[in-house]
Amino acid sequence: MEDFSCDVLIIGGGNAALCAALCARENHQNVIVLETSPKDWRGGNSQHTRNLRSMHIQPTDVLSDSYSEDEFWEDVWRVSGGETNEEYARFVISQTPQIIQWAKSHGVRFQPSLGGTLQLGRTNAFFLGGGKALLNAYYKRAEQLGIKIFYEHEAIDLHIQEDECKYILVKDKIVNKVSQWRAKTYIVASGGFESNLDWLKEAWGQKADNFLIRGTKYNQGLMLKALIKEGAKILGSPTQGHMVAIDARAPKYDGGIVSRVDCVSLGIVVNKNAKRFYDEGEDFWPKRYAIWGRLVANQPEEIAYSITDSKVLDKYMPSLFPPIIAESISDLAKKLKLDEIILKQTLNDYNQKVVAGNFNHTILDDCKTKGLEIEKTHWAQKIDTPPFYCYPLRPGITFTYLGVGVTKQAEVIKQNGEVCKNLFAAGEIMAGNILSKGYVAGFGMSIGSVFGRIAGISAANFNTKRGW
Ligand SMILES: Cc1cc2nc3c(=O)[nH]c(=O)nc-3n(C[C@H](O)[C@H](O)[C@H](O)COP(=O)(O)OP(=O)(O)OC[C@H]3O[C@@H](n4cnc5c(N)ncnc54)[C@H](O)[C@@H]3O)c2cc1C
Repeated sequence: MEDFSCDVLIIGGGNAALCAALCARENHQNVIVLETSPKDWRGGNSQHTRNLRSMHIQPTDVLSDSYSEDEFWEDVWRVSGGETNEEYARFVISQTPQIIQWAKSHGVRFQPSLGGTLQLGRTNAFFLGGGKALLNAYYKRAEQLGIKIFYEHEAIDLHIQEDECKYILVKDKIVNKVSQWRAKTYIVASGGFESNLDWLKEAWGQKADNFLIRGTKYNQGLMLKALIKEGAKILGSPTQGHMVAIDARAPKYDGGIVSRVDCVSLGIVVNKNAKRFYDEGEDFWPKRYAIWGRLVANQPEEIAYSITDSKVLDKYMPSLFPPIIAESISDLAKKLKLDEIILKQTLNDYNQKVVAGNFNHTILDDCKTKGLEIEKTHWAQKIDTPPFYCYPLRPGITFTYLGVGVTKQAEVIKQNGEVCKNLFAAGEIMAGNILSKGYVAGFGMSIGSVFGRIAGISAANFNTKRGW
């Protein structure tokens, strides 16, 4: 009998990893979790989350009204411009109601969701205390069940021979020592490569210098690199990902949700040349916010400015940072170091083309512009009531979509189409099976939870079938 450190070795310590760990343990497996961060920073991007998207056929204690599988799927289809995998997307969507029940049974608490510009009460279940509380609940349960967690242990490589993973190379960062860890099965749930500045630069060029990483600094993509090297099937492009426009004053890493700017659809956005460049009112903000990071990334110097006036001040959740306030557009231009004449011209052109309608931010209203090169199609109101407010915007990467191909049992697929029998993947690292462009809020945690659970169960089933 080979000498294994455990039945199931899990790489990563976020939502997908913990869902996998709990399911494997509940299926009688000896489980080890390797988390590269120190304990205080455990939980990767999942610690920054607030909710997950779930279908439901009638109101529940945490979700209002109903949200069918078809409607959920249509939302995914629309935001991705059809560039998604219907079979996999529906596979995840159909299992979302069980996720909420399962999470509750593992100590996670949910809250009734908020209204306002995000309007997610019908579609997204909010974690009470946010993602940090969700993870604390899962870690607590994991410890109660005897799952061993090794913090500051980074998986730096893996080795696949024929159709099996043979070992993982692990760096114990506390004593700075690298060793081989062998297990009967392995689950990679170590996120994307969004925290790896060199890799981002390789994909995006110099632009990447101005990107901010909204989440953890620990998702360096080491396992993704190892999977590429070992001949796993890789899906997607390194430039695709969830990228929102965030407050330009946010820190390089871990700015989290509070640095997001949610007033874009209520005003106009101009670039460094003081010109508008996209329809700010194209659709509800939760269905559009994920394209704005990329839009800003493609503007001169990768910066933009969201401008509103006092009329809409109470209609959105502010960023953590105070808005830049000015009593006149000239004053605003000076504060933003934008060309005053052009900014005034942009505002005048916009104001003149606003068609009066009934402003209602909870529906796709009839307030729009008519006659501009770039129209604003909803929620267009004149920006004419001082003071004027501005948030500077930078591209904020949430997570990358480049990922490894998996079966619906979460088994890693190789380039030649064969399946790696004892190697599974869950979460961001395989989200590219479904996400290749665009995003609907809350889907990341749905994908990670569904595939995390499947990976844990599949790993256990594999070991049981082998008679281990
Ligand atoms: C600010 C912010 C807000 C978000 N809000 C939401 C939301 O409300 N709803 C939603 O659905 N999605 C949200 N997301 C996206 C969501 O975080 C991800 O889709 C989801 O958390 C992915 O889970 P995961 O377990 O795959 O990755 P992560 O939670 O990032 O976990 C990856 C883990 O792997 C560890 N790790 C990485 N490399 C290694 C290695 N080599 N060895 C060992 N460990 C390693 C990391 O430390 C980390 O613990 C948000 C993301 C951010 C940044």
